[in-house]
Amino acid sequence: MNQAERIQQAVLRSMHSRDLYTERQVNAMLKVLRKSDTYIKAELVHIGDSKVLKKGLEVRKEQLKGIQNQIDGIVRDLKNEQTLMMKTAVKESFQNGITGGIREFSELDFPYYNALSHEDRVRMAGQVMSLTDRSALDFLVNYDLQLLGNVTRELADGIKQQIAVGIVTGESIAKIGEKIGGVITDPEAFRKAGKTVFRTAQNRVEVITRTETLRAHGQGRRKFYDTVGVRMVVWVTAGDERTCSQCGPLEGQEFPIDQIPPFPHPQCRCSFFAARAKVCRAGVPVH
Ligand SMILES: [Zn+2]
Ligand SMILES: [Zn+2]
Repeated sequence: MNQAERIQQAVLRSMHSRDLYTERQVNAMLKVLRKSDTYIKAELVHIGDSKVLKKGLEVRKEQLKGIQNQIDGIVRDLKNEQTLMMKTAVKESFQNGITGGIREFSELDFPYYNALSHEDRVRMAGQVMSLTDRSALDFLVNYDLQLLGNVTRELADGIKQQIAVGIVTGESIAKIGEKIGGVITDPEAFRKAGKTVFRTAQNRVEVITRTETLRAHGQGRRKFYDTVGVRMVVWVTAGDERTCSQCGPLEGQEFPIDQIPPFPHPQCRCSFFAARAKVCRAGVPVH
């Protein structure tokens, strides 16, 4: 295998472990979303049992307030759990970006890196992480929490609206439940499912989690490259049939490290690698 092929293999391995990490985060996010789904369904059963739908309009409106408070409580818990998970995922992904960059240089026998033990690499990643401007990482976390906050707010509003319309118009619980929907774990069934409140939220949670863990990973990688003096990078796509028309043409193109095209767009799976591989040991150039 020539050096270019070895580089591509090393980067694709990193992208694969990055994507495995991302899918674990997506599944964890969906697990807590599914928990809320279960609580909402229990709330609908409770509404059904309470016969509130059979009562007069004023009574229905009165009881609606209590129901909406319940929904707000369920979605608030969801938001708190997802907030903690996203904070952890962004920081871990950023760190994985650093560690992956170091491991690739070792795998490719770059001088100095080829002599690093696993412990050395972990220590070096910690050094680069300690050089990281916390406010930049906090900015990324806050941006992601805002995105997630919009999703949970719209989820709560969507559920409350369906219940309110249903209760005021006397719709059946089954009908209300249908419009609210639920979390769908089977990708094929999810793709085919019609629009419901939960399907919209699930789709956005998946896209945000995938895109933002990738963004954090890319920023960690960039931070490592900046620290060790990489000036040029090469764009690397996933190189498969799902590579989009925006990213495809970027494959193999070189960019100054401070002029990398906007990365990532939603659902992007690309990465980038040090070009011409003249890299520096933290602060000391290696030729
Ligand atoms: Zn793309
Ligand atoms: Zn891409």
